[in-house]
Amino acid sequence: MKTWIQVPENNDFPIQNIPFGIIAYDQFISPATRIGNTVIDLSILADFGYFDALDLEDLSVFYQPVLNDFISLGKNKTNAIRTYLQNLFSLNCDDLKDNAEVCSLALKDVDSVLMMMPVAVGDYTDFYSSIEHATNVGTMFRDPGNALLPNWRHLPVGYHGRSSSIVVSGTSVYRPKGQTRPDENQPPIFGPSKQVDFELEMAFITNGKTKLGASIDVNKAEDFIFGLIIFNDLSARDLQKWEYVPLGPFLSKSFGSVVSPWIVTLEALEPFRVKGPLQEPQPLPYLQNEGEKNLDIQLEVFIKPEKSESNLVCRSNFKYMYWNMAQQLAHQTVAGCNINTGDMYGSGTISGPTSDSYGSMLELSWKGTKPLILSDGSSRTFIQDNDTIVMKAFAKKDNLRIGFGDCLTKILSAT
Ligand code: MN
Repeated sequence: MKTWIQVPENNDFPIQNIPFGIIAYDQFISPATRIGNTVIDLSILADFGYFDALDLEDLSVFYQPVLNDFISLGKNKTNAIRTYLQNLFSLNCDDLKDNAEVCSLALKDVDSVLMMMPVAVGDYTDFYSSIEHATNVGTMFRDPGNALLPNWRHLPVGYHGRSSSIVVSGTSVYRPKGQTRPDENQPPIFGPSKQVDFELEMAFITNGKTKLGASIDVNKAEDFIFGLIIFNDLSARDLQKWEYVPLGPFLSKSFGSVVSPWIVTLEALEPFRVKGPLQEPQPLPYLQNEGEKNLDIQLEVFIKPEKSESNLVCRSNFKYMYWNMAQQLAHQTVAGCNINTGDMYGSGTISGPTSDSYGSMLELSWKGTKPLILSDGSSRTFIQDNDTIVMKAFAKKDNLRIGFGDCLTKILSAT
């Protein structure tokens, strides 16, 4: 499928992608999609009747400042809208191409708009589903012989995170202050974290609402997954180490988590399905699913110091996940927890098998013992003030590339 919109080579947004996001320009905030480096304001298309043929009853979803209501339409309708947009922008369709007035209003260069949070996140869960990551952390902090805790291979470990501090790519985040205890023989001290870290994650966003007490069948769970984004779960390792016992991370992971602005639908990622790792022992029946449940999405992390160039520090892949998204959602709801449209579910740090594929500075610098040397000669064990962290994610197969754009954030000095 080809489009009449110019798409540069190796762009993340060919016509096969059609992601959804929220753009802001002048006095407008609107739902949008993107092809190449052109964003398309869906509210303008709605103004001019372009969605009338779809029998949507309520066009107000194209005028909201978040995508929650749009996603709530359900997959039947959102998929129909996606397909309709693909047709509208395909090379052989003149319906919009020849309408200069609407094109001039609806089509904008991506650099001329601001990207906003795509959804209002009601609830946010963070899993811990990469076996390489969990093994590395267990090896560093506990016992290399028993790196995984006894529950790890039996359930997707997770915790309920903080949704208010989830921000969109481009938002700067202040270095957090808090309690740490650098000397175990001394009382804790208060001050800026010295170990700010990124966590390379993907997150999925749910569509649909379930009732309290209901659970989602693992084989139907993907029907509740609208799409995915890149998720940088910023973490302060020194705060985390002191505070996390016994209830898990608290302030060390709620000072800012950064998401990429475009939600790439599960449907756009269909061609990139692969089988996940063998699960041994076999999970309990409510977690059993078969087939290609993982996604081959290449992941990269860059650190850009204030005054020098960007450095690639990690290359990983979403396909390494031990527990897949359907299993995570089945587990989330099996006790009766209800879900809502717009909830976000982080995968947990995605590390690969090799030391250049670890998804956090904690692992890349092995607890600070192996500094990374950057191209400007400076070294990093953790993130420094004014460093910008950039995450990229894209799937590639034959001549098709479906990507997510950048997820970037700059760490500012503590206030
Ligand atoms: Mn995390």
